Amino acid sequence: MFLDRAVKTKKHPCFSKSAHNYARMHIPVAPVCNISCNYCNRKYDCVNESRPGVTSEVLSPEEALAKFRIVKEKMPELSVVGVAGPGDSLANFPETKKSIQLIQAESPDMVFCLSTNGLMLPEYQEDILQLGISHLTITINAVNPRIGAKIYAQVNYQGVSLSGEEGATLLLDRQLKGLEYLSARGIVCKVNILLLKGINDSHLEEVVQVVKKHGAYMTNIMPLIPVKGTRFEDLPLSDGKELNNFRRKCSVHLKQMYHCQQCRSDAVGCLGRDRSLEFSDNYIKERE
Ligand code: SF4
Ligand code: SF4
Repeated sequence: MFLDRAVKTKKHPCFSKSAHNYARMHIPVAPVCNISCNYCNRKYDCVNESRPGVTSEVLSPEEALAKFRIVKEKMPELSVVGVAGPGDSLANFPETKKSIQLIQAESPDMVFCLSTNGLMLPEYQEDILQLGISHLTITINAVNPRIGAKIYAQVNYQGVSLSGEEGATLLLDRQLKGLEYLSARGIVCKVNILLLKGINDSHLEEVVQVVKKHGAYMTNIMPLIPVKGTRFEDLPLSDGKELNNFRRKCSVHLKQMYHCQQCRSDAVGCLGRDRSLEFSDNYIKERE
């Protein structure tokens, strides 16, 4: 299983920079989210993995399969299919699961990945293993609930809404449990960390060290893209130099991602060469 993961990692452009000629496709089948990040405006895509300001279409599992067929036919370099929002992949698990099963039945050679805030990982970890997901991204912005409380306004779990340190503690506990469990079973786990100046910037190294201890393969420190109407809309921003300094500092502990494109949740194509609009049009035409 672990050899299989190594081969698949070489075909995943986010996990291997050398895989830049392989394409990935995000299927936007997960509109709902179960937490509230202070940098998110739910009118837009999830900023864990998306560029805000562009609203993506939301597809049913069957529509996702239809779109996959078109993309695969026209894009032989397609190697990865992932669910990255626009909400949380695990807050919409029935749709996420069905979409992957449908596509996998046709193309078992694809690399399948998910992106999540991690709240529901312990619930679905066995399903994730059985589904044949090989790569996972968890966004973990803090490993100290006092800092997490400043980032997450609400955490909604089993019908109860928690806020402050209580919510942040629950979220962190479940993120780390899921990360540890799945890493130990061969899932290649990347942790995304949003750099929030004045909130978690002096805490980044600690996050990297803790997630490493729990099995993370790499971390991806990303700049905040401020979204109007959010609590963090006026947070000071980092330039590329400062961001890379943070990454370099953390690379002492763990492999870092330097080439993240902060993609849309319906991104299609090689990194940096997004073709999502082209395929959205084709898809609509095909349906008419
Ligand atoms: Fe928004 Fe993503 Fe945070 Fe959910 S996890 S609130 S969709 S940024
Ligand atoms: Fe890869 Fe970053 Fe895009 Fe996610 S947002 S698909 S990690 S490049």
